[in-house]
Amino acid sequence: MSELRALYQEVILDHNKHPNNFRKIENADREAEGYNPFCGDHYTLFLKLNEEVIEDISFIGSGCAISKASASVMTTVLKGKTKEEAGRLFETFHTLVTGHLNGSMDELGKLAVFSGVSEFPARVKCATLAWHTMQNALKSKEAKTTVTTE
Ligand code: ZN
Repeated sequence: MSELRALYQEVILDHNKHPNNFRKIENADREAEGYNPFCGDHYTLFLKLNEEVIEDISFIGSGCAISKASASVMTTVLKGKTKEEAGRLFETFHTLVTGHLNGSMDELGKLAVFSGVSEFPARVKCATLAWHTMQNALKSKEAKTTVTTE
């Protein structure tokens, strides 16, 4: 298990160094800012929607390795998913990082690398910041939204 953890850590550090979808989307349908004052994580998320489908998703900003890796993996996983699928994945991801996941990690795929976060409750806000920001952006009728973790 410790080897697996080390591997996961490597994946997180790699995403932190070379994040996917780390760019701005011009003419995005939604733009959402997320801020985690406990850690200083601060990102802006961009979404391009095609009716119910997330056609493109990206982010810019800065923060700790976990928050950045989480945003990187999230954008990778959500591209091409429907809003509803994104919401379901967020629920499952949330149970994973808070240590409440029942059943297998199979449907989580790449997101499983964040399973170790459940051992560090203070880092849960880091891991879920991009997700809260994404959910807020999708649910809001406004083109621009802001999320601050509490
Ligand atoms: Zn953080």
